[in-house]
Amino acid sequence: MLQQFEESQEAPPVLESFDPSNCKKLGEVPISNAADVKAAVARAREGQIGWAALGVDGRNRILDRLRGVLIDRASEIARVVSSENGKPPVEPLGLTGPLCETIKLHTGVAKRLESGVRVSPTFFVGSKARVYYEPLGVAGFILPWNFPFELGVKHMIPALAAGNAVVQKPSEANPLIGEMIADLFADAGVPDGVVQMVHGYGETGAALIDEVDVICFVGSPQTGRRVMERASKTLTPVVLELGGNDAAIVREDADLDFTAIGLVNGTCYNSGQVCNGIERIYAPAHLVEPLAKKIVAIVKELRQGDSSGRGEYDLGPITWAPQLEIYEAHTADAVEKGAELRHGGVVERKDGGLFWPPTVLTGMNHEMLMMQEETFGPFLPIMAVESDDEAIRLANDSKYGLGASVWTRDEGAGEAMARRIRAGSVMVNNAVQSGGCVTLPFGGEGESGVGRVQGEQAFYTYVATKSVMTCPKSVENLWMPYEKGFDTLAKGLTKVFSGRNIGERISGVVDVVRTWPHR
Ligand code: NAD
Repeated sequence: MLQQFEESQEAPPVLESFDPSNCKKLGEVPISNAADVKAAVARAREGQIGWAALGVDGRNRILDRLRGVLIDRASEIARVVSSENGKPPVEPLGLTGPLCETIKLHTGVAKRLESGVRVSPTFFVGSKARVYYEPLGVAGFILPWNFPFELGVKHMIPALAAGNAVVQKPSEANPLIGEMIADLFADAGVPDGVVQMVHGYGETGAALIDEVDVICFVGSPQTGRRVMERASKTLTPVVLELGGNDAAIVREDADLDFTAIGLVNGTCYNSGQVCNGIERIYAPAHLVEPLAKKIVAIVKELRQGDSSGRGEYDLGPITWAPQLEIYEAHTADAVEKGAELRHGGVVERKDGGLFWPPTVLTGMNHEMLMMQEETFGPFLPIMAVESDDEAIRLANDSKYGLGASVWTRDEGAGEAMARRIRAGSVMVNNAVQSGGCVTLPFGGEGESGVGRVQGEQAFYTYVATKSVMTCPKSVENLWMPYEKGFDTLAKGLTKVFSGRNIGERISGVVDVVRTWPHR
């Protein structure tokens, strides 16, 4: 008896949270086991009924209030995100705008689709055809550590706007940011149960897949495969946003000063821990040297710091310590295969944090891991190419297809090249930031993912599409039994609606008029 009591009173295992810049403990949360996840989703199902009943206007009023909450609490958000994630506080501050725009976009889409969309009844003359978009129920989110706040808020917006309840499992690296997100939604007035967090490692994520009606997963391709496999057991729809190995192509005519700063921003933002960050650079052979020199001069000026309030900085620590192994392995592999290390390449250990400096390499080739696999850090490996065509061929020589960029003074040529690169998003004269242009879909080809988050397309991930057709009595002309003349009627209808010329259409009308009254 006593033993049973002790077991039931046992505190659940906890997930501890640490500041990656100094390894100081920030707090802890209980880990959710499979039963906790089941209970959270059951609460969400109950909450969803009331959320859906609020109607589009009621839900939009609350989601609109969230914009105000994000603006009012921006400094607090920046502090919490910076301390648990390591990035400079200005970066989460800069993401408030895209989040507010996401709310505007999806509340607008929900309003526009509220009464369904009328479509042509084609040859069902006199019928009404309408498409309705209804909530699926409970949407689950399993998210990574690199943008825990931005992704944690942004991806739930279309699901909520569509009338779903949501349950999120943040990365094990940032449970406190997850808790803060739940509090922000509560602050805006989202009713109890509609937005919930469950915490833990892979097992918690797997349990969530079993319970919900749709899964949005953001993370590595390896885990993405497991998620899809697990979801196949319940035939739960999934959208997968996975890794990348984005190419930057520098054209002959590029403005080298502008391009060098752009490439540094595209690789060093969030210390390079960005799914669509630049991972490999291709430049005409004679530009490699001047470009590398400019890049090294720029990265030397960047400040590497931490969240403890000691001044402003550009790059934070490595957020997730196991990444160091990949950085060191990819650097060693490149140098061993002939690359020249021009800057960085060695970790700095300060106050318990790991700081990886921007790392510039030349003499790259496609045998190197860095040009084939995701490094996910502040790396600028430059490879010489002979032509635009070769650059495109190499950019497309990848199992990934998330993003890419083209750097040129000729916007038309840049856009034409963008069309030839196999990637979900391509930028001309910029990188990474199309992820903040929330009207654009975001997602990848190949091992970079399945489906799209962001843009209006994201809304359709979280809805059941329902077709409603209402027919007049005359529709019985198209029913059994197939009386004499039905074949002429069928041919006639096809010619009326799909005839290749006016003569064929008129002959169709004659067939229909001749046979219709016989039915
Ligand atoms: P990860 O795949 O290791 O983990 C992602 C999430 O999945 C975590 O919450 C983790 O706990 C959970 N998880 C682990 N095993 C699971 C399982 N078996 N079932 C269910 N959930 C499980 O990824 P990470 O290291 O946190 O994030 C980095 C990766 O995310 C990089 O590859 C990066 O490119 C990618 N990413 C992609 C995008 C995008 O939009 N394409 C955005 C950000 C990050």
